Amino acid sequence: MAERIPAALEEKFRKRLAFYQDIGIDLFYRDRFPQQNASITEEITLPKSVQKNQPVKLTGTTPPAPPKIDVLPRSPGVSLFDSMSKVAGDSLPRILSDIGECTRCKLHRGRTKLVFGDGNPKADLVFVGEGPGRDEDAQGLPFVGRAGKLLTQMIEAMGLQRQDVYICNVVKCRPPENRTPEKDEVETCSPFLLRQLDAISPKVIVCLGSVAAQTLLETNRGISHFRGQWLEFRGRKLMATYHPAYLLRNPSAKGEVWKDLQKVMAVLGLQGKKGKSS
Ligand code: URA
Repeated sequence: MAERIPAALEEKFRKRLAFYQDIGIDLFYRDRFPQQNASITEEITLPKSVQKNQPVKLTGTTPPAPPKIDVLPRSPGVSLFDSMSKVAGDSLPRILSDIGECTRCKLHRGRTKLVFGDGNPKADLVFVGEGPGRDEDAQGLPFVGRAGKLLTQMIEAMGLQRQDVYICNVVKCRPPENRTPEKDEVETCSPFLLRQLDAISPKVIVCLGSVAAQTLLETNRGISHFRGQWLEFRGRKLMATYHPAYLLRNPSAKGEVWKDLQKVMAVLGLQGKKGKSS
C-alpha cells in the first residue's frame, strides 16, 4: 500500500499545486530528463503558424532567405515551461487579474506598483526586460526611466512607436536596490510572462539582457554566446540583445544592438526611421 506523506508536506504540495493552477499549469509529468545533448546549431523547422509570417519583401525581386534559427541547449533541470500548456482563451486582463495583489514572492514587500506590461496586446514584437527599476515601480509602467528612454529611441529607429510593440519584464515587482532578481523570484513570476507571450502571440520576442534571455531560454550561458542569433522559443523567433541599461554604461555596444534590431526589422518587414543608417 502506498505510504501517506506527512501532513505538513501534503499541505505544501497542495499550496504548490494551487499556485501552478493559478499560472495555468495543469499537466504534470514524471521522470522528465533534461535534453543534455541538444546541439547548439541544430536547425529546426518552424511550425506552420510561424512560417506563414515570413519576412515581408522590402525591395528588389528576390525574397530574403528565412533566417536560420538555432536551438540553445537547456541547462540541466526540470523545465517549468515545458509543462505549461497554453491557457485556453487567455488574455492580458485575465493574467493581470490572476496575478492580483501578488504576495507570491518576497519582492512584493518593497513594491509601490506592480509593473505588468504595456503596449499593443496584439503586437508582432515584444520586448522583455529584467524587472522594474525605481521609475517603473513608481509609475507602474515598464521602461520609463533612463534605460526606457533609450529603448523608446531604439523602437523609433526601427520605424515603430512604443504603442506598436509590447514591453514587459521577467519579474513584475522591483527588486530592492535594483539587484538582479533571484532564482525563486524568477521561477515564481516567469510563468505569468509565459502566459503574456502566449496571449500576445508575437512574431518576434526580443530579450533585453541576460536575465530575460536566460529565463526564456532556460540556460546559464552568458548572453554574449548567443546574442544576435535567431533562437527558437515555443515555436517563435527570439533574439537576445544587450539591455539598454548596459548600453548606457557601454555606448560602444550600441552598434551591436542595432545590428540585432536590423535582423528583427528584416523579419518584420520594417524599413526603419528615415535618416537612420543601416
Ligand atoms: N529595466 C528593466 O529591465 N525593466 C524595466 O522595466 C526598466 C528597466
